[in-house]
Amino acid sequence: MKVTFLGTGTSQGIPVIGCTDTVCLSTDPRDDRLRSSVLIEWDNYAYVIDCGPDFRQQMLSAKVININGILFTHYHADHTAGLDDIRPYSHKNGKVQFYAKNDVIENLKERFRYIFATKNRYIGAPNVVLNEITNRSFNLKNIKVMPIEVNHGEQKIFGYRFNDFAYITDAKTITTKEREKLQNLKVIVVNALRIDEHPTHFNLQQSLDFIKKIKPEQAYLTHISHKLGFHSEISKILPKNVSLAFDGLSIQI
Ligand SMILES: [Zn+2]
Ligand SMILES: [Zn+2]
Repeated sequence: MKVTFLGTGTSQGIPVIGCTDTVCLSTDPRDDRLRSSVLIEWDNYAYVIDCGPDFRQQMLSAKVININGILFTHYHADHTAGLDDIRPYSHKNGKVQFYAKNDVIENLKERFRYIFATKNRYIGAPNVVLNEITNRSFNLKNIKVMPIEVNHGEQKIFGYRFNDFAYITDAKTITTKEREKLQNLKVIVVNALRIDEHPTHFNLQQSLDFIKKIKPEQAYLTHISHKLGFHSEISKILPKNVSLAFDGLSIQI
């Protein structure tokens, strides 16, 4: 399985528009972060987790010819605002498969009414197939995918486990029961927003504490804000089995 980080930034990305702090002005390309998303590929299959406002740019940079579907973690705009740009895949395949839980589906139907319209559809609108998921494993081709429920403040959202790999973003807390689904992982990706605490996302310390509990072989941090610090400096203070992800990084699992 190959995982490519399409974006590793928090909701506003880095640089933040109009921001003149040092990280936003950094010349290190690893400090430029599009909105968080990953591409997961195995055999001849390709799935994307989330579809934020940078989706078009991400598909072009990673040269993604085709996708088999999109899994959504939650409905916030930084994870869904790129939906209109799935059109090339919809036109190519007729439809794009979506995997999401009920609250995400309801929210998308409200915000992207033209995509889900059944009457007087605009001819250029993308076609999607909604696969509603609950907190139970489901199959994507020949792999069993396990949702992991995490709390994003008050909101219950999903991370996903694919075999020995798990992807969790926008978590603030997780129950012991859900955390137990994350044993024996080769790689976990988990969000780490900044140094200071935040009401709905792990800060760096909370993310490191979480990783310590689940003991993966390797962890990568994502959903990073400009307030975390420079990639080069934060990398030096992390434990051996933890790295900052950066846009364009690919790993084999
Ligand atoms: Zn987010
Ligand atoms: Zn969010």
